Amino acid sequence: MIDVAIIGAGPAGLSAGLYASRMGLKTNIYEKLNPGGQIVLSSEIENYPGVCGENMSGIDLMSCWPEQVKKFGAIIENKEVESISKNEDGSFTIFFADSSIKAISVIVATGSHPRKAGFENENEFIGKGISTCAVCDGFFYRNKEVAVVGGGNTALEEALYLSKIVSKVYLIHRRDTFRAAPNTIKRVESTNNIELILNSNVKKVYGTQFVEGIIVNQENQEVDLKVDGVFVFVGNDRNNGILKDKNQEFICNVNSQGEVLVDIQMKTSIDGLYAVGDIRVSSPKQVISSAGDGAVAALEVVKYVDKFKVNN
Ligand code: FAD
Repeated sequence: MIDVAIIGAGPAGLSAGLYASRMGLKTNIYEKLNPGGQIVLSSEIENYPGVCGENMSGIDLMSCWPEQVKKFGAIIENKEVESISKNEDGSFTIFFADSSIKAISVIVATGSHPRKAGFENENEFIGKGISTCAVCDGFFYRNKEVAVVGGGNTALEEALYLSKIVSKVYLIHRRDTFRAAPNTIKRVESTNNIELILNSNVKKVYGTQFVEGIIVNQENQEVDLKVDGVFVFVGNDRNNGILKDKNQEFICNVNSQGEVLVDIQMKTSIDGLYAVGDIRVSSPKQVISSAGDGAVAALEVVKYVDKFKVNN
């Protein structure tokens, strides 16, 4: 039996693995893709402390994290976890397609993924002018024109945030009313550099290497908007499927958005089960907060594992 199984090798999982293995725990990290997490999709990151040079991509930032973790004995395996269950002795079983392993504790760091709006070339331009995070990428577009796609609270709040940095925001929404707090709607409507484009859908984004513009279907006509960036806010799903049992019930408490409920030590409602990074409730969805969560959880896991070994 291992001490801790960490599921996901993004910033949260790798940071948890670094702390857990360096404190002497037998640590296995399971990742279904390559280690690094979502940030590897970003062509540039500027808001992680210590990144002081020019043009650091997400891949550059994450490239040495797995090696640093392995240095202290953690094992990173390229395996997709299918589910987790709690055993009678208090340990956990982690299930893969064709095998399973037992662990005293589990840190879930499976992240989240932004929903796609579904327009042409969306996948090709992610990280090259298409963004899903104004705090992360807004600064790259200062004094430029951008489009925001969406009509909920997040889209409107992000449009307001961007309006302070960029020269103009086109807020594109498929309906004629927003689904957001009345006060937020008022602020958007009274912001001079936000232009509302309602009853409209983005048909496609175009450009050579980076976004140069979008074609919008607006009431039976096509409009060409020259923008440098497109911010898509049409929802975000947490990767929480492994936390469901055979009856599709969650094994720990989650809220209506599927975010795992944790306390400030990243403990879930199940003893020995922790959730960190984008998947947890109220996550700021940043690399720095995800890495911080991982460290916090690992420090707790060390105490939990010690106690478990004394009692079993
Ligand atoms: P993730 O990074 O999502 O990692 C989760 C990992 O778990 C993934 O590698 C996934 O493959 C793996 N996984 C999922 N399910 C399973 C399973 N069942 N079995 C095994 N493995 C599994 N943040 C910033 O701070 N600054 C930025 O500039 C910035 N720019 C961004 C640009 C883009 C294009 C995107 C998409 C995000 C950006 N972010 C940025 C946000 C940041 O990437 C996330 O907040 C952060 O990566 C979350 O870390 P995480 O470890 O919680 O999850």
